Amino acid sequence: MSRYIAKAAIRGANRIVQEADAMLESAIRDLGADCPVAFTNTAYYLPTILGFTGKEVAKLGDLRETLDYAKKLLHPIPLDKMWLPYLGETLDSGVATLLAEEAIEAIRFARGQQPEPIPGLQLTGTSFTSPDAATAEGSPGGFANGPIDDIQLRSWGIQLVDGRMPGFAAIVGAAKSNEAAVAIVRELQRRNILVFLSGNVNGRSIIHQLMEEGVEMGYDTYIVPFGTDTISAIYALGFATRSALTFGGMKGGQAREILLYNKYRVFAFVLALGEVDDLKYATAAGAINYGFPTIADTLIPQILPTGITTYEHVISMPWDDIEGANDTERAAKFVQRAIEVRGVKIKITEVPIPVPYGSAFEGERIRRADMRVEFGGKNSRCFEYLHMVDFDKVEDHKITVVGPSFHGVPEGGSMDMGIVVEVAGRKMQEDFEPVLERQIHYFVNGASGIQHIGQRDITWIRISKAAVEKGFDLKHFGEILYARFHADFGAIVDKVQVTIYTDPAKMEEWLAKARQAYDYRNRRLADMVDESVDTFYSCTLCQSFAPNHVCVVSPQRLGLCGAYNWLDCKASFEINPTGPNQPIQKGACLDEVKGYYTGPIEFVYQHSNQTVEKVSMYSIMENPMTACGCFECIMMIIPEANGFMIVSREDPSMTPAGMTFSTLAGMAGGGLQTPGVMGLGKYYIVSPKFIRAEGGLRRVVWMSKNLKETMAEELRAAAEREGVPDLLEKIADGSIATTVEELLPYLEEHEHPALMMEPLF
Ligand code: SF4
Ligand code: ZN
Repeated sequence: MSRYIAKAAIRGANRIVQEADAMLESAIRDLGADCPVAFTNTAYYLPTILGFTGKEVAKLGDLRETLDYAKKLLHPIPLDKMWLPYLGETLDSGVATLLAEEAIEAIRFARGQQPEPIPGLQLTGTSFTSPDAATAEGSPGGFANGPIDDIQLRSWGIQLVDGRMPGFAAIVGAAKSNEAAVAIVRELQRRNILVFLSGNVNGRSIIHQLMEEGVEMGYDTYIVPFGTDTISAIYALGFATRSALTFGGMKGGQAREILLYNKYRVFAFVLALGEVDDLKYATAAGAINYGFPTIADTLIPQILPTGITTYEHVISMPWDDIEGANDTERAAKFVQRAIEVRGVKIKITEVPIPVPYGSAFEGERIRRADMRVEFGGKNSRCFEYLHMVDFDKVEDHKITVVGPSFHGVPEGGSMDMGIVVEVAGRKMQEDFEPVLERQIHYFVNGASGIQHIGQRDITWIRISKAAVEKGFDLKHFGEILYARFHADFGAIVDKVQVTIYTDPAKMEEWLAKARQAYDYRNRRLADMVDESVDTFYSCTLCQSFAPNHVCVVSPQRLGLCGAYNWLDCKASFEINPTGPNQPIQKGACLDEVKGYYTGPIEFVYQHSNQTVEKVSMYSIMENPMTACGCFECIMMIIPEANGFMIVSREDPSMTPAGMTFSTLAGMAGGGLQTPGVMGLGKYYIVSPKFIRAEGGLRRVVWMSKNLKETMAEELRAAAEREGVPDLLEKIADGSIATTVEELLPYLEEHEHPALMMEPLF
């Protein structure tokens, strides 16, 4: 092990802890020890400090204890000749550094100095449903991101869980050239690795480099600029800690478990670009504690023996020694090496189209001003339809465009289009059609400069001017679908043929066929009730993050993430019989109203590591189903109103429970049963089985406004079924009440049925 690194890390740690100490005392003098400290829109207090020490820091004064703890971890700076045989000192220094860095960021927040101003920086992102809204309400610009908010943490959570996103790379410093900066980031994006940016070299940061090159940064493109100093890299480790707390069900203070969780489940590494100073060494030492290695593009001493990290701890790969004709080629090798060091195999599907391709582009939005042409949306119609046909009716890799391309459409205009995918395969079944069809959304969205929203006959696709300039044309939709269906579903699909219809008559003809199929599929699930099947399905996909969580999916209750309904699970089981969706025999019905069935009870007990002794299907007050962290909505009791509120993930505002979604998420997740609190998929709300034990939809007294709006039609139908046709008007939302005091008069005035129902307790 390198003495040099140990010394540098110890020096760096001593200095930063001292600095934090001075900042803290001065902040306490100015603001008082009771001045609150918190990272905005995140639960878990100051997460790294919580993780290591178990202390819930809420006030400036609390940080004194944190820094005292950090000081105990410091070691004297060794003299030149002194022998330092242990990695222990380096690791201790790393922890002290992280604690100090988080304290410093928190103090900056308390002083109102965060996020850091970065003139000209514009961030993309958040959960806009319309790309045009992003222009109107997008980031005001000019500031670094600061900590990743909980909404984003959770939405990335599901991708981390299902493997779409392998992990993250924390880049610190500045690349050799702008070309290198862009190429490194593109290499990471291509593999769907989240990119976190911080640090600088002589004042120049990779954030500046990417800005100069017009690379879009923000949640939508998986590139998060934390800040231009090294200290802001703490948010990467805070993110790692929060993942363990959120998805791993760990508690603050379980430092060892949190670090092990990250070592084995979170694929992450640090890329140190440019000169590495003491603070960078010290921060890298902090990351080694998590099992995250550092790869530097300069000549530095290495720490090769393996121990804490899966492979090497610190690797030096001087940029000029990397073989390659240019920085783009060198970047590819550099990133490849980093991935090997971390030791995870990543599969990339090569898609032969003229624009970059990878899931990192999935969230990309195309604004109207950047758009060459759109299909669907307000002014045209677009649909997609996948169906199976006989083996000899499909010619593999046949891609046909029937009708004109968009080149005759004026810039920014729209046209009709239908995408019809025909597949054949020995193992293919009709039941798989909707499961495969839904993949079109993810597959098409992976192309840079293409945006796909919606599904079926409300598909809405945009192609950017930049993509068209690079040569993207309609046939490339076919190339994408052909490549991805073979790569991802090769086990069931042997042949794939894609036809793109723009010819009006043909388009109409196929739209009618597609609609018949949609209708048929709808009715199949709608007709199905829990009583009519003898098998439910499990979903344990989220156990890689929440080890005790099991979703039980029935025809009338879909998975809490909204992504898996009963038919999907059934198809998934047939596609992959040893996968996360297993059939559960219902067994005997012990209680029809609450939904106690012997099969699910036994299954969940066995597969929750024997932590969930009894689970109900239709109750929130008695043995409710557990939640991981992916829920579309959280439902919680409002005792004063004798009912429940439902807040959706897209709703950042305050609720009458006195908590926002992100705070509630901390209570609802982690695989625990908490009567009165439950995570759910939004379509469960309109199911006839929705909390039947408590009286169903009539118990809902408050609901996020966006839910009321986007599901208005379904909710009306459900209200009618429940015998209160105007129920939706009686249910309050965030524009009506954000406190119980505001809520109760509204309910009384509108004679909400919950007030008249049997008391919940
Ligand atoms: Fe996770 Fe449940 Fe969704 Fe499966 S159904 S992915 S376990 S949330
Ligand atoms: Zn989950």
